[in-house]
Amino acid sequence: MASIKERTYIMVKPDGVQRGLVGNIIARFEGRGFKLIALKLVHATPEHLEKHYADLKGKPFFPGLIKYMALGPVVAMVWEGLDAVKTGRVMLGATNPLASAPGTIRGDFALAVGRNICHGSDSVENAEKEIALWFPEGVVQHELTLSTWVFE
Ligand code: UDP
Ligand code: MG
Repeated sequence: MASIKERTYIMVKPDGVQRGLVGNIIARFEGRGFKLIALKLVHATPEHLEKHYADLKGKPFFPGLIKYMALGPVVAMVWEGLDAVKTGRVMLGATNPLASAPGTIRGDFALAVGRNICHGSDSVENAEKEIALWFPEGVVQHELTLSTWVFE
C-alpha cells in the first residue's frame, strides 16, 4: 500500500528558475496536498550533477545535460505524501515535453527534452539517494494541521 510518508526529490531546473516558474511548480505540489520538508536554491557544480545523473553516464546527451543543469541555480525540494514518487512523475509529465499531456508541468511550460524545466525521482530507492545527495544536512520534520483533511 502507498505510504503517506513517501518522499520524492523534486527539482526546478535552471530554465525553470530563469523563466519564473518556481512559484507555479511549488503551488502545484502544495495544492495537491503534499508537504514541503526541504527547499533550497543551489548552483550545483558539474561534479555534483554528474553524481545526480550517474545512471545516465555514457548516454550521448550526458555532457549537454550536465552543461544545461550547471547554467544557473536550481530549486531543490523534498515533498512528502501519499504515493509522492509516482504522483510527482505524473505531475511533471513525460520526459520529452512534446509527449507530455497538457495539465502537467512539462506539458504546460516546455517543448524541448533538453529544456524540460523540472526533475522528479523515478523510484522510492532513487528518491532516497537523491535526497541524501542534495540534502546531506537532512530535512525538516514537522506536521501540517491539514493532514487530517488530505489523508483518511
Ligand atoms: N534528456 C535529454 N535527452 C534525452 C533524454 C533525456 O536531454 O534524450 C535529459 C532531460 O532533461 C531529462 C534528463 O536528461 O529530464 C534525465 O533523463 P531521464 O531519462 O532520467 O528523464 P526524467 O527522469 O527527467 O524524465
Ligand atoms: Mg530520471
